[in-house]
Amino acid sequence: MKRIYNFAAGPSTLPLSVLEKAQSELLDYKGTGMSVMEMSHRSKTYDSIITEAEALMREVMGIPANYKVLFLQGGATMQFSMVPLNLLSKSGKADYIVSGSFAKKAMQEAQRYGQINVPATSESENFSCIPDLDKSKFTKDADYLHITTNNTIYGTRYTTLPDTGNVPLVADMSSNILSEVIDVKRFGLIYAGAQKNLGPSGTTVVIIREDLIGKALDSTPTMLNYKTHADNNSMYNTPPTYGIYIIKLVLEWIKEQGGVEKLQKINEKKAKIIYDYLDGSKLLKGTAAKKDRSLMNVTFTLPSDELTSQFIKQADAQGLGSLKGHRLVGGIRASIYNAMPIEGVKSLVSLMEKFE
Ligand code: PMP
Repeated sequence: MKRIYNFAAGPSTLPLSVLEKAQSELLDYKGTGMSVMEMSHRSKTYDSIITEAEALMREVMGIPANYKVLFLQGGATMQFSMVPLNLLSKSGKADYIVSGSFAKKAMQEAQRYGQINVPATSESENFSCIPDLDKSKFTKDADYLHITTNNTIYGTRYTTLPDTGNVPLVADMSSNILSEVIDVKRFGLIYAGAQKNLGPSGTTVVIIREDLIGKALDSTPTMLNYKTHADNNSMYNTPPTYGIYIIKLVLEWIKEQGGVEKLQKINEKKAKIIYDYLDGSKLLKGTAAKKDRSLMNVTFTLPSDELTSQFIKQADAQGLGSLKGHRLVGGIRASIYNAMPIEGVKSLVSLMEKFE
């Protein structure tokens, strides 16, 4: 078996021990004589899997009791619709901070349902930073304010959260959930596609404060109403059963690693190794503003397309995969989620050195 260091932005690398556990349980899950994939979602065995996944999620993230944890489908992109459909029901107004192209897509989708204000955007800087936030530009009676806590394509993240007062803060945390300690109480709603730090694509986790449930616009489809899923413990219809099972294994792995606090320290160390190299390099240039650098996606450029292709080729040859940057930024993007071992980061930096 040959495994590479996989720097893909998502779907992305998973802990090897999680994959091995899934492999060992693939054909016969705990003596049931079947795979989790083949099991009724209404069975007792599956019920214990989803119940445990939720309990672990609550434990590792410190989710208070007045929040629901939902396992949905449709990716983070479906949340771009579900959030406004469910929350834009009081004033019909919301604020969106546009710090990247996913943030912009979320904002544009919300425009279909209400009056959307953009208090800050870094688009004119090609999203190389988190825009400065001026509280006086926030809408006082907004139903919520939306941010993207980590901008996967551009390699930026919020290091401090906006103070929204009584306005619920809604966050797309797809690419940095569980990578650093967060205070869930600061948020009205958090959502994340699973395919970076949680598990395989196909499952989306939503963490929502209970008082925000049950206020959807009348035209909201049943499947897009948080109340439908909250009332049925994510079992209104067939949930993405296998994905939830893998998420459970990933959460167990996080606990084994010492929890999110410990992982955050490791993530800071991993990111620092690459950023320190970039700061001293004459050839490779980091693209994100230093103050906003992501711990999960490190973006940098080389002086020409030719050198960029050469770098990627050499990396591939050494088992360092999927380093090509997103087409909107170009260059290189190294996604170093929780499951990327520090050895992978060190191998990358030694290639950067040798290449330079
Ligand atoms: N938001 C962010 C921050 C992302 O990185 C992505 C891409 N993974 C999305 C939203 C879209 O996610 P999905 O493909 O799960 O709809």
